[in-house]
Amino acid sequence: MSSLSGKVQTVLGLVEPGKLGRTLTHEHLTMTFDCCYYPPPPRYEATSEEPIMMKNLFWIQKNPYSHKENLQLNQETEAIREELLYFKANGGGALVENTTVGISRDVKTLKWLAEETGVHIISGAGFYVDATHSPDTRAMSVEQLTDVLINEILHGADGTSIKCGVIGEIGCSWPLAESEKKVLQATAHAQAQLGCPVIIHPGRNPSAPFQIIRVLQEAGVDVSKTVMSHIDRTILDKKELLEFAQLGCYLEYDLFGTELLHYQFNPDIDMPNDNKRIRRVRLLVDEGYEDRILMAHDIHTKHRLMKYGGHGYSHILTNIVPKMLLRGITENALDKILIENPKQWLTFK
Ligand SMILES: [Zn+2]
Repeated sequence: MSSLSGKVQTVLGLVEPGKLGRTLTHEHLTMTFDCCYYPPPPRYEATSEEPIMMKNLFWIQKNPYSHKENLQLNQETEAIREELLYFKANGGGALVENTTVGISRDVKTLKWLAEETGVHIISGAGFYVDATHSPDTRAMSVEQLTDVLINEILHGADGTSIKCGVIGEIGCSWPLAESEKKVLQATAHAQAQLGCPVIIHPGRNPSAPFQIIRVLQEAGVDVSKTVMSHIDRTILDKKELLEFAQLGCYLEYDLFGTELLHYQFNPDIDMPNDNKRIRRVRLLVDEGYEDRILMAHDIHTKHRLMKYGGHGYSHILTNIVPKMLLRGITENALDKILIENPKQWLTFK
């Protein structure tokens, strides 16, 4: 048991879990996504270099990773401050900002946003996908990686004394890279020592979440403290989903607001829309998993901000919750998904 036991660790320090309120468990407030730039079709090269305008906004919405400025979420701190105030005005209380090393984590900006808005912000320790690992990271042993994670939680991240409150999002590719496997093992070791929450970004294959849970469990993780992100784009088959749900981790539907015709990172997937996500959540509630579901938007590009005509951080509270009620998900189940489950997950054991 660590000194953090029974508490949640935000960028402003420890808080009582009951203070969080409605919590989004997978968001980004400042990051860069150059690692995942996707070259546009030949005649759109000029478009990808333009500033964001009304006349190219639809193209950016359909090709979000092919527009260079769109990948610089770190340039929008003022707009995001306003959006967090709007989130709070709509009943939001907290969010997990799980930007990790490799996509420009910036805990100082997170601290500033928390101070300015009063929204509880929990920051993430660890590393994004293999493509962003530095040679130094790749050269580290599992023990050294474990020390890095523990240090970011107990002492502070990015050379500051601002502490992380979860491990992740830990980036995994498909197939799983050797360096990613070591980071997963380190994640399990640090989790077992600290009793902390863990959140994983799986590779884009239905087998990836199963493999990741196996690796984590073999290394001693508490699976009940583990979140599998991006279930919406990873496990689309109903039978496979119910099989995965039995493993006991949290199932996170975290791409609310994303309505894509063509999913650039995996053209084989028909990205579900919000109505489909709502039906999936209803299914999991009906099957008895309401204490294992989490929801978020995973905003990581500019075009999803309200400033650029996007849905923003309040979409779940203002639009999705009313539609879920209409589709028979009870207020009691919604309180579990938005308040109780995040609270249980984020509290150190
Ligand atoms: Zn994310």
